[in-house]
Amino acid sequence: MNKTIAVIRGDGIGPEIVGEAIKVLDAVAAKFGHSFTYQEAPMGGCAIDQFGVPLPDSSLETCLKADSVLLGAVGGPKWDAQPSANRPERGLLKLRASMGLYTNVRPARMFQDLAAACPLRSDIAAKGIDFVVVRELIGGVYFGDHSTTDENGEKKAVDIMSYTEHEVRRVAHVAFQMARKRRRRVTSVDKANVLDTSRLWRKVVTEVAQEYPDVELLHMYVDNAAMQIVRDPSQFDVLVTENLFGDILSDEASQITGSIGMIPSSSMGEGTNGLYEPIHGSAPDIAGQNKANPIGTILAAAMMLRYSFDMPTEADAIEHAVDETLKSGHRCGDILQSGGTLVTCTEMGSQIVSRI
Ligand code: NAD
Repeated sequence: MNKTIAVIRGDGIGPEIVGEAIKVLDAVAAKFGHSFTYQEAPMGGCAIDQFGVPLPDSSLETCLKADSVLLGAVGGPKWDAQPSANRPERGLLKLRASMGLYTNVRPARMFQDLAAACPLRSDIAAKGIDFVVVRELIGGVYFGDHSTTDENGEKKAVDIMSYTEHEVRRVAHVAFQMARKRRRRVTSVDKANVLDTSRLWRKVVTEVAQEYPDVELLHMYVDNAAMQIVRDPSQFDVLVTENLFGDILSDEASQITGSIGMIPSSSMGEGTNGLYEPIHGSAPDIAGQNKANPIGTILAAAMMLRYSFDMPTEADAIEHAVDETLKSGHRCGDILQSGGTLVTCTEMGSQIVSRI
């Protein structure tokens, strides 16, 4: 199969980790007889430096035309002084909106070989961590109006959170369909005791649940969910929530699995073109030092093969190679507390390639 992949290397460790994911994709292409064509799409701080904007039209067009998009990470202190409308992260928000990517999926799975890196008590970790956070991605407060005004001699800031029924319904369907392929349990997270958007969220999710009688639905307030994720994560299968809550809870969920450097994420809309990236940022503190863990990006490439290219065997091959590499004791710095041998970013990529 021939596929075109738009590549956004981004800033900080972005180019390093994306380079390793491409090495792995090339190994998969060679083994399974596929051909992947990579098209560079500058975005983020590097695009501000080169083009004056975080997402040039040419990059957006490349992403929209490609079969899928692979992203490292964007942002860094160099661009912190940019006006908010021109910050690197704005490029990412615009890309998500332009591609219509309304669902973000982040697995929170603890690798047994990294159990020692789990910050939870061993008796809690022993029950296993394997759930998926399904986050609404292009609605809510991140996409509402933002303003800062002067009022009665002081500044006043306002951010608007809004949701429509169809925005909730489409992401709820994704969650229930995913639960059907897993342990058939959806936990919908909201703040319906306080927020109107959450009351609408709960009503629509409950309606959608009628179409999935084989899937159990539970509702949970977001403050309780934050607590339950560290108290007993084994209770979760598919957790579905709105944009802001999902942003926070999915970071919490990733941290309890060991390291932020291990977790991939996929963002999808109606078509098969998706955006695949690790969940972490550009890690400016370790950028350019060949220290970053590329596994989150490599597993994001596996998700791309599975969800956008319908290549489950090839995706399995990558995930299996990652498991085997961890079993053999290779560790980047962020997961070294679980024991093993320290390797660089490029060595980790090569070890995974050698096991494809
Ligand atoms: P971060 O995720 O970049 O880093 C947090 C900590 O985790 C750092 O100590 C970092 O060294 C470590 N870390 C992250 N990824 C790692 C990896 N693969 N291997 C080893 N260690 C890793 O979060 P931050 O420091 O809050 O943000 C840095 C920049 O990234 C900011 O400009 C932020 O806006 C941006 N950001 C971008 C995205 C994105 O592109 N999707 C997401 C989050 C943050």
